[in-house]
Amino acid sequence: MTRKVKIGNVEIGGGSRIKIQSMNTTDTADVRSTLEQITRLADAGCDITRVAIPNMEAAEALKEITKNSPIPVVADIHFDYRLAIAACENGAAKIRINPGNIGDPANVRKVADCCKERNIPIRVGVNSGSVERSLIEKYGGVTAEAMTESALGAVKILEDMDFSDIVVSIKSSSPKLTIETYRCLASRKDYPLHVGVTEAGTLREGMIKSAVGIGTLLAEGIGDTIRVSLTADPVEEVKAARMILRALDLGAPGITFVSCPTCGRTQVPLIELANKVESRICDLPYNIKVAVMGCAVNGPGEAREADIGLAGGKDEFLLFEKGQTVRKIKTANIDAAAEEFVEEVIRVGKGQKTDQAV
Ligand code: SF4
Repeated sequence: MTRKVKIGNVEIGGGSRIKIQSMNTTDTADVRSTLEQITRLADAGCDITRVAIPNMEAAEALKEITKNSPIPVVADIHFDYRLAIAACENGAAKIRINPGNIGDPANVRKVADCCKERNIPIRVGVNSGSVERSLIEKYGGVTAEAMTESALGAVKILEDMDFSDIVVSIKSSSPKLTIETYRCLASRKDYPLHVGVTEAGTLREGMIKSAVGIGTLLAEGIGDTIRVSLTADPVEEVKAARMILRALDLGAPGITFVSCPTCGRTQVPLIELANKVESRICDLPYNIKVAVMGCAVNGPGEAREADIGLAGGKDEFLLFEKGQTVRKIKTANIDAAAEEFVEEVIRVGKGQKTDQAV
C-alpha cells in the first residue's frame, strides 16, 4: 500500500478513495474566471484542481483563489523556483514541479524547505518529454525503465533534502508506455501515484486512451489519484474520471448507465431514446444503475442488475426494476417515455442511500 499524503483537507494514498483531479484552463491571474471554473469542477465531482503558475501575477492571484476555492488548489510550476515559493506562501495545497527542471540544487532546497515548513506536499511530475538524454541513450529510447529512472532521480533530489511528502506522476501520451512505466515505478516506491495519460487528445480519443491507461492500472491496484487529460472543457475530464472509477466499482458517486447495442428485435429508436435519457440523468447524485433496452422480450432479463430500466415494445415501454416488470408506459412518443422514465429514476434514486452529492 502507498503512504498517505494530505493535499489540504483531502487525503490521497494509503488505501483512501481514489481522488479525481483536473486542471483549470483559465488564466490564473483572472481570479474570477478561475474560481468560477473551480466551482464547476467541484460541482462535477472534482476533488483537487491544479492551476498553471507561469508568472508572478498568477502566483499572486493564488492568494485569493485558494482563500475562496471549495477544493484544494495545486500550483503547477515549470523551472522558476521563485514561483514555487510564492505559490507556497499564497496557499497552494500542493506544488507540482520536476526538481530536475529547477536546476540549481540550492533552489530546489529552498522550495523543499518552504513546503516542509507549511506541510505542503510536492508532486514530482515527470513525463516522456523530460527524460534525460543520458537515460534515453542508456535504455535505447524513452522506455518504461528510462522514465522510471528519471522519476526516481527527481524523487531522490528531494529525499536527499530530507523531504518525503511526495506524490509521483510519470506520464506519457502512449497508454501502453504509461501502463508499463507505472507498473515499474509502483514496484520500486511507496509514494502515492498520480496516474494519467498525458496529451491524450480530444473528447473521444482522449477518453478511450485514458480509460485504457488509467483503467488498466487501477484494475491492478496501481494509482491513488487520477487525471483524465482532454482537449475539452475540464468538466468533461471529471465526468470521464468518474466513469472510469464507476466502471471499476471504485466508489465514484453517480448513476451508472447501461443500454443495449440494439438488434433486429428493437421496435423503438433506441439510440435517440438512450441519448435523451442519459443526458437528463448523467448529473443526478444517485448511486444507482439505470438501463435503457431495445426490446421487452430480453431487455429486463439482460439488464436484471439495473435498479431501474426501460425496455422498448410496440407503442409502449416496459418499466422494470431488478429484472421485474413494474408497469407499462403506454406511449409511442420517445420524449414522453423519456420524461416519465426520468421521473421514475429520480423516485428510485431518492429511495437509495447516496454516499456523496455529485
Ligand atoms: S435487449 Fe433486445 S434489442 Fe437489445 S440487444 Fe438484447 S435482444 Fe436486442
